[in-house]
Amino acid sequence: MSLIQELRSARCFLCSLDHDAEIVTSITNLAERLGVKVGAVAAIGALQRAEIGYYDQVAHEYRPIEIDRPVEIASLNGNLSIREGKPFLHAHATLADSEGNVRGGHLTSGTVFAAEVCLRELVGRPPVRRHDPTTDLFLWSETD
Ligand code: ZN
Repeated sequence: MSLIQELRSARCFLCSLDHDAEIVTSITNLAERLGVKVGAVAAIGALQRAEIGYYDQVAHEYRPIEIDRPVEIASLNGNLSIREGKPFLHAHATLADSEGNVRGGHLTSGTVFAAEVCLRELVGRPPVRRHDPTTDLFLWSETD
């Protein structure tokens, strides 16, 4: 059965990430520092390098895609929710090269050149990530 959980928008933060920082860790740490447990994340900017992943639906594993050159963050969308008791960032990104060609997928890591993040806190009963045997992913389920 699908999950629908109603939450309310609370605080909203605009944040600039440090040059050379790792983007996934930085956003996760930012959320922890601000006390945001659940929320929506969007960002634009540029990365010096990145790794994205493609989830193989048969093998049930992420295939890594290394991008070892500077790219624009044309779009980064994600969410924060609780996994194993801690805030967990799940983000996808569309990254554009110098020709404007894009590659995209599940954002595993990236080294920040410059990045502007909009972090919107959501309050209410948060969904919790639990292992889903069908997909072998940690998907949202009801709060205990
Ligand atoms: Zn993903």
